[in-house]
Amino acid sequence: MIEENYYAEFDRKENLAFDSKVVHGALGCDPISGAVSFPIFQSATFRHRDFGISTGYNYSRLLNPTRQELERTMAILEEGVEGYAFTSGQAANMAVFDYLKRGDHCLLCDDLYGGTHRIVEDIFKVNGIEISYVDMGNLDDVRAAMKPNTKMVFLETPTNPMMKVGDIKGIAAISHEHNALFVVDNTFMTPYFQRPLTLGADIVVHSGTKYLCGHNDVVAGIVVIKNEDLKHHFEIQLKSLGSGLGPMDSWLIIRGIKTLSLRMKKHNENAKIVAEWLRKHPKVKKVYYVGFEDHPGYALNLSQASGFGGMISFELDSEESAHKILSKVNMILFAESLGGTETLVTYPITQTHEDVPDDIRRALGINEAFIRISIGIEDPNDIIADLEQALA
Ligand SMILES: *Cc1c(COP(=O)(O)O)cnc(C)c1O
Repeated sequence: MIEENYYAEFDRKENLAFDSKVVHGALGCDPISGAVSFPIFQSATFRHRDFGISTGYNYSRLLNPTRQELERTMAILEEGVEGYAFTSGQAANMAVFDYLKRGDHCLLCDDLYGGTHRIVEDIFKVNGIEISYVDMGNLDDVRAAMKPNTKMVFLETPTNPMMKVGDIKGIAAISHEHNALFVVDNTFMTPYFQRPLTLGADIVVHSGTKYLCGHNDVVAGIVVIKNEDLKHHFEIQLKSLGSGLGPMDSWLIIRGIKTLSLRMKKHNENAKIVAEWLRKHPKVKKVYYVGFEDHPGYALNLSQASGFGGMISFELDSEESAHKILSKVNMILFAESLGGTETLVTYPITQTHEDVPDDIRRALGINEAFIRISIGIEDPNDIIADLEQALA
C-alpha cells in the first residue's frame, strides 16, 4: 500500500508555550490548500486513486482528518501520545471502562459526575465488574481500598460537585504498585491548569462539551493516553462502536480550544471574585471552592494545578433560597452543564446527580439547598448583581 497522505506529519510544537499551542493545534492549517481554518472534511468515505494507493483515510468511522486534528491537538495539550474524540464525555467514559473484564475491580472517587456513576453501576457492574468508591482525599484510604483484582482507579479532581481534591501523583503511585490503570477526569481543570499525564496518570478523559468547547454548542468527549500499548484498545472502540465525533463538531471544538487559555484565565478570575462574595452573603451557609485558602485541598491543588477553575458549589440556608436563585436569575441561566462562556446555575439533586442514590448524595452534602454554579466570562459585577437580586 502506497500512502499519499499529506496529513501524516505534524509538529508537536514542543518549543511553543501552552497559550500558543492552543491556537496552532497539530497541523493548524490545511497542508494542501493552506486554509488557515482547518477544513471540515464532511465525508463518510475516501477515494483511492488506484489499487494499492491510499491517502491514509478510508472511512470516517475509523479516521477522519478533522477529527484527527482535534485528537492530535488534545494529545499535544495533555502531553500524551495519542488522543481520541468521542460523541460525548459519556461515550469516552464507556470506552475507558470497557477496558475492564469480568471479575476485574474498579475503584472510583466517592464524589463523581452522576453520569459516570450511572455507567459503572447500570452497565459495568451488571456485566460482572466489581465497583467500589472511596474518598480519594486521603492516600491511606485509597491504599486500603485496593484489591488484588483492582485493574483501574478513576479520579475526578476537583470532584463534581463537592470540589474535593485528590492527589494525582500519590494515587498514580498506588495504582501502579497494583498494576492498575490510573484514569483522571480532567474536565474541570482542563490542560490549561492541570496535566495529569505528566503527574503519573495513564489516561485522561474529558467531557469536551465543557471548557474545551467552551460555547455550550457541542456535546463531545476526549480521551488522551500516555502509553502506546493503550492505542489498540481505543482504536478498536472507535472502529467497532462508531462513537467517534463527527467532522463538524470536531471543528467546533478545535475552534473553541483556540481561546481556551483566555477563557480559563477569565473563568478563574471571575470565580474567585464570586466565591468571595458568596461566602459573605447571609443566606449562604457554605461555599465549596478550591481557591479558598482554608479549603482542605487548597495546597494539594496548588501543588498539581496552576489555578482553581470556574466551578463553585454552595449550600443555602434553605430549600426556598435555592429555588429563589433558580427561578429569579436573569442574565445567569438555569441550565445543566458547565464550562461555557455563559454563567449557569445547576441543581444537582434533580439534574446532574438525579440518578445517584439519595443516601449517597446526602452523605456527600447534595441536598435541596445545594446549588452548583459554573462561572462564565461575563463581567463579574453582573454575575454578583444577578445573584444578589435573586436572593433578595
Ligand atoms: C459533563 C461531564 C461528563 C459527561 O460528559 P458529556 O459530554 O455530558 O457526556 C463527565 N464528567 C464530568 C466531570 C462532567 O462534568
